[in-house]
This record gives sequence, C-alpha cells and structure tokens, in this order.
Amino acid sequence: LMQLYQPLNMLGFVYREIKQGLTDMEQMFRLMSVHQEVADKPGAPPLAVPHGEVAFEEVQFAYNANRQILKGVSFRVPAGRSLAIVGPTGAGKSTISRLLFRFYDATGGRVLIDGQDIRDVTQDSLRAAIGVVPQDTVLFNDTIRYNIAYGRPGASQEEIEQAARLAQVHDFVARLPEGYDTRVGERGLKLSGGEKQRVAIARTILKNPRILILDEATSALDTRTEQEIQSALRAVARNRTTLTIAHRLSTVVDADEIIVLDHGVVVERGTHTDLLAAGGIYARMWAMQAEQQDQPEAAAA
Ligand code: ADP
Repeated sequence: LMQLYQPLNMLGFVYREIKQGLTDMEQMFRLMSVHQEVADKPGAPPLAVPHGEVAFEEVQFAYNANRQILKGVSFRVPAGRSLAIVGPTGAGKSTISRLLFRFYDATGGRVLIDGQDIRDVTQDSLRAAIGVVPQDTVLFNDTIRYNIAYGRPGASQEEIEQAARLAQVHDFVARLPEGYDTRVGERGLKLSGGEKQRVAIARTILKNPRILILDEATSALDTRTEQEIQSALRAVARNRTTLTIAHRLSTVVDADEIIVLDHGVVVERGTHTDLLAAGGIYARMWAMQAEQQDQPEAAAA
C-alpha cells in the first residue's frame, strides 16, 4: 500500500495541512494523490453502509492505456466475512485495494459497497467506511495518544486505552515513563515496525470502520512479533468485512475465501482446503513456503 502514499516528500507539506485542521488520516493520502481525475459527482449522496458487503464485478483497470493491469476481476465479500488476495508481486493485489478506496476509478466493470457503485457516492463517506492498516505506518511526530486518537478525534482516554488493549500495544505504552504522552516519530521515541503497526491497528479500532483493508508486511518479523500482530489484526477484523493482501500464506488459512491473482486475472479461488485439494498454483505456493519455513536460514537470506 505504500505506493499509495507517494510521493513521501510531500509529507512535510501535508502534515502542516493536517495540523491546520484536517480530521481524517485518509485526507492526507488524498492530498498526496497526484491523480485529480477522481471527483465527486455533482449532488452525490453519502455512501450508506448498513451491512458492509463488498463486490467487484468484472473490474478492469489500467494505469496507462496501453497496459491492462486488472482484466475483469470479480468477487463478493459478504458483510463481516474475509477475503484474502494472494499472488506474485505485480499481479495487481494492491491495485484492488486502491480501487476500493477509490484512488482511481475502474476503467471497466463496477465496485459496489452494499449495492452502491462507489463512483456515485461522496469520497469522504466512502473513506470513512473503510479502515486501512498499511504495511508501513507513518506516525506523526506527536504523542502516542495523538497517533491513536487520530482514528476518532475527540476520543476519551478510556476509549484510546481500550483500543490500545485490543491492538495489544497498551502494555508496551503503559511501561513507558511518559505513557501515552510519549512523543514518537522522527523527533521522539523510535518504535519498531511491529509497534508502529499495532499503533495503526489501535487507530483503526477507534475509527471503527465497517470495511477493512489489511496489507500484510512483506518483511520478515520475528515469530513473537508476528503472533502479536496476527492477534491484534484478528481483533480489528472481528465482525468487519476484511480484504487482506497476503504475502505469507500462513495468515490466509482462516480466510472465508482466497483468490489467487496472476497478471490481473483470478486464476484460482476457494478456501484453503479447496485450493490445496485442487493442486494448482496455490498448492505449489504453499509447498514452497512450507519448505522455506523448514529452512529458516535459507528463508532469511
Ligand atoms: P501487487 O500488489 O500484486 O504486487 P500492484 O497492484 O502493486 O501489484 O501492481 C500491479 C502492476 O501495476 C505492476 O506491474 C505495477 O508495476 C503496476 N503499477 C502499480 N502502480 C502503478 C502506477 N502508479 N503507475 C503505473 N503502473 C503501476
């Protein structure tokens, strides 16, 4: 997802904008988006999200007219269920999440949330309904409290702590001499990748979106951090429609549906058990990863 937030060198500018009163994290990303073609239709109503069902219908997309990236992708994630998207680098996994968040409009087909074409509703209401936990979280140069409360400006200390507990970051924060008032970021305490991600998860829990996009970290984390993050992610995903861009197959085993994307086409779909039994690409990817896990040194190299 990090590509979404480019160009990063605009961060300083954007940060000042936020300090001047923007209230939503995603506004930052919109400001940073160089693409201006996505606009609200005149008189567009807000998105209504009574359930949170997400559907892609024959979605096509190209960043440049001469190179099709998604070639008719369809899936439906019922409210509260989970979809994992796997496939090789460059297959189009992140592009799917960018289209759902409407950084770009599909060039063919439709993206629907509870039956509404996302091009017909306001972008603000769309982005309020979707939480994103990116691979690499950029924290503000401010306190931990500020960074978590960003998910819901005006949240009480109690709500912030509750979100932090669910995200499994409260104990860590409570042990710091200045607790939630500890400053983080470039000019403060440096947090590890796992700690930053749990702050992002706490923020998302506070935001309380119906729909969630999880972009799993590609970098290898140690087993304990990995387990803590997995359990924090399970807490945030509970009862929400969840799309996970998965880089490690171990985390997709429990998904209600898995789609395997290759060159912008869904080449396999089903549950983990279905796909193993099918003996196709997924089964081969699984066998390869299992082999790497048996040889941790080789995998880390
Ligand atoms: P994945 O997440 O599966 O690794 P992506 O969705 O990020 O794949 O990218 C799919 C393809 O689209 C890749 O070939 C990538 O190079 C290309 N692509 C991604 N972002 C852009 C962009 N902003 N402009 C042009 N091409 C892009």
